[in-house]
Amino acid sequence: KGTLFLVATPIGNLQDMTFRAVEVLKRSAVIAAEDTRQTRKLMSHFNIEGPRLMSYHEHNKNRMENQILEFLEGGLDVSLVSDAGTPGISDPGEDIVRAAVSAGHTVVPIPGACAGITGLIASGLPTGQFSFVGFLPRERKDRKKELERWKGRKETLIFYEAPHRLKDTVKDLLELFGNRPVTAARELTKRYEEFARGTLEQFHESLQTEAPKGEYVLLVAGASEETADGEQEVWWSSLTLEEHVQ
Ligand code: SAM
Repeated sequence: KGTLFLVATPIGNLQDMTFRAVEVLKRSAVIAAEDTRQTRKLMSHFNIEGPRLMSYHEHNKNRMENQILEFLEGGLDVSLVSDAGTPGISDPGEDIVRAAVSAGHTVVPIPGACAGITGLIASGLPTGQFSFVGFLPRERKDRKKELERWKGRKETLIFYEAPHRLKDTVKDLLELFGNRPVTAARELTKRYEEFARGTLEQFHESLQTEAPKGEYVLLVAGASEETADGEQEVWWSSLTLEEHVQ
């Protein structure tokens, strides 16, 4: 029987691809990709030529599941990759893993970049305990209800958000959670990687003057982290990629 590999890919910087990820992809009969165009670029960069590329995303995953199970049944190794980062984390993966496990197939994770963890470790906030919230509901009413659920949690919270929804989300966070420490991690591993470390109030204010651009992870302090009101300055730190890798 074949094996299902879950292969993490870079979240921006191609140098974050692991040796093992390249090897496993090269040896796979099939690569099931969330975004075949993106994966084709990755394959060409790492000279991965053999595997057949198929599409597996949110909208065709039910249809493609049987196909993947058939490949595995037929002894072919299948690698699942998402658009960026770790498959299964705010990306398709969970369903095919469940199906492969219940059909008795071997599932092997190939770890690598994950935006939430990458942002968390440099946030300056407690990392001992944290929860991954991921994307909040788009509807304000549902978003507020969801935030209400997380409000009293004492651990650091990890949120994903699209740039055009960031302002609304930060507004709701401030309203529901009160003023707390936050780190906004932007464009992680990319040329304009940047961390804004400060309070929700300060970050909310900074968003009023400049429209957010790029990809963001928000790391919000748990309910136990006190904020010295208005006393600390929002602290931006950025380093261009050239500075970090050369
Ligand atoms: N599977 C991915 C992972 O392992 O992190 C997450 C995919 S999810 C569809 C995309 C979201 O992840 C973005 O909206 C953003 O919140 C976050 N993200 C992905 N890449 C990022 C980066 N380079 N910098 C900051 N956030 C990023």
